[in-house]
Amino acid sequence: MPADCPACARIDRLRRGLDPFFICHRRESVVLLHKHQRYPGWCSLFVTDHHEHLADLGRERQSRLWLDVMDVAEAIAAAFAPARLNYENLGNVVPHVHWHVIPRYAQPVDPEPAATVWVRPESERDCGVSDSQRDEFIARLRDAGLR
Ligand SMILES: [Zn+2]
Repeated sequence: MPADCPACARIDRLRRGLDPFFICHRRESVVLLHKHQRYPGWCSLFVTDHHEHLADLGRERQSRLWLDVMDVAEAIAAAFAPARLNYENLGNVVPHVHWHVIPRYAQPVDPEPAATVWVRPESERDCGVSDSQRDEFIARLRDAGLR
């Protein structure tokens, strides 16, 4: 694990039971509630070991990781009934393979449903979440099958 990878550091913390956003382990990933819940139910999946590029995983692991993404999507759909789900694999900021599964809603919950969330002002998007709301959202996702 590269010493400077924030995702690897986070995975290490959650393995020691120190990450309250942890939801579950899947086949190839760990699933976390995103730390900002402007879009209720937003989850992230990090591949369990350090790889910078999706292509480096090989077809079998890519396929299993995709099943993980779909497990998360199903749970978000069941728990939050969003209008749509966005699937994003970026890596521009955190160079460790990860997916965002972002539920999208009608206005006014979702201020700009036709655009990617990344075009919204950081001050709006990066709103955090209270401890009680976080725990409630994680419980809903676990009830919907993310265990
Ligand atoms: Zn890493």
